[in-house]
Amino acid sequence: METLRLGSTGPNVKLVQSLLKKIGYDPGPIDGVYGPRTQQAVATFQRDNNLTPDGIVGPVTWNIFLRFLKGFDIYSVRPRDTLNKIAQKYYTTTNAIVTANPGINPDIINVGQRITVPYGLDVVFTDIDYTYDIMERDIEGLRVRYPFIETGSIGRSVLGKNLYYIRLGRGPREVFYNSSHHSLEWITTPLVMKFCENFLRAYSQGRSIRGYNLSNIWEQSSIYIVPMVNPDGVDLVLKGLDPLNPFYEQLLRWNTTGRPFSQVWNSNIRGVDLNRNYPARWELGKAQEPMLGIFGPGPTRFGGPFPLSEPETIAVANFTRQRNFRMVIAYHSQGREIYWTYLNLTPPESLSIANLFSKASGYAVADVPPQAAFAGYKDWFIQEYRRPGFTIEVGLGRNPLPIEQFDTIYNNNEEIMLLAPLL
Ligand SMILES: [Zn+2]
Repeated sequence: METLRLGSTGPNVKLVQSLLKKIGYDPGPIDGVYGPRTQQAVATFQRDNNLTPDGIVGPVTWNIFLRFLKGFDIYSVRPRDTLNKIAQKYYTTTNAIVTANPGINPDIINVGQRITVPYGLDVVFTDIDYTYDIMERDIEGLRVRYPFIETGSIGRSVLGKNLYYIRLGRGPREVFYNSSHHSLEWITTPLVMKFCENFLRAYSQGRSIRGYNLSNIWEQSSIYIVPMVNPDGVDLVLKGLDPLNPFYEQLLRWNTTGRPFSQVWNSNIRGVDLNRNYPARWELGKAQEPMLGIFGPGPTRFGGPFPLSEPETIAVANFTRQRNFRMVIAYHSQGREIYWTYLNLTPPESLSIANLFSKASGYAVADVPPQAAFAGYKDWFIQEYRRPGFTIEVGLGRNPLPIEQFDTIYNNNEEIMLLAPLL
């Protein structure tokens, strides 16, 4: 990890600030700028942990932070330990320890036995820039806390990043949620990640959420989630253009907006708009490009050289073909609207489902704007399967939406995600 000190900026600074705040140190605003208050909080943390209090996050301090961020320790049982005592030491509960250690007998633990101990902290932070690395670590954190979940990769991005999926449930009614086809819309990634965490915590404790019986959902349904379809684009937006990026020269050329990538880049790393790259009247989307001022790879709306030209869309299409989804939801973030139609192929039940989602979220049921009417994921899904497919646009304002909208967006969408597997 990069060393952080006074004057450092970026997603890792935000991450450290958010962590410090959660464990009781005041770093000032979580703004990604390593100022004097953050330095002071780091120094205090270091003093409390018997480190040199230099206020710099170097390898030794990072190591301790990373233990918190991974969200668990492997603990070797000592004489006179009980699960209860261990739980107290880690600000967690015996139930959480038992969940993370299938088969453990809470009354009989042996000296030297190694057990996984989750911290009391949440795995998924929702007040930070949610990069690919952070998502990857969070998926690992969820997997350790809830070893009964299935996770994996449906393919790789242009730059070789994993396109992860998480499966909640083991029933035959399969639904699919995906996020961040568009990189500026990365707030949709922590949206579904937080849903996973809240679902798993409540399910493992036998609790319901909003009156929904999670055991029923788990037994009847399988919710498949791909939280980041476009990880290369998300990292470009959140971390800036890395000089080692193999598309460095091209990206500079392709971004003709005169504005930074962090404000304009919705495409994948080859300048293809992934939600205009599916084989659903792709050529009609293509025909619109000159009118939209698009003549090749760029920040938005370039549909690629041919349908499914990109590894990310190929992976999502293949994953869809290999499953039997009754319904899909693609999360985007440009408005508070639910798009539910595709040409005259929309199945009859889609409107009533869209109305239920609208009631649950407060979002409007809307017609697709003409410049976004073709070659999207939901379009392709409806065309291929004649089953309900939705694009849900969360939040209001110019992308990327400020993370301060997260709690509202989460509250608007939680019930949709609980309801869909039951329909
Ligand atoms: Zn979008």
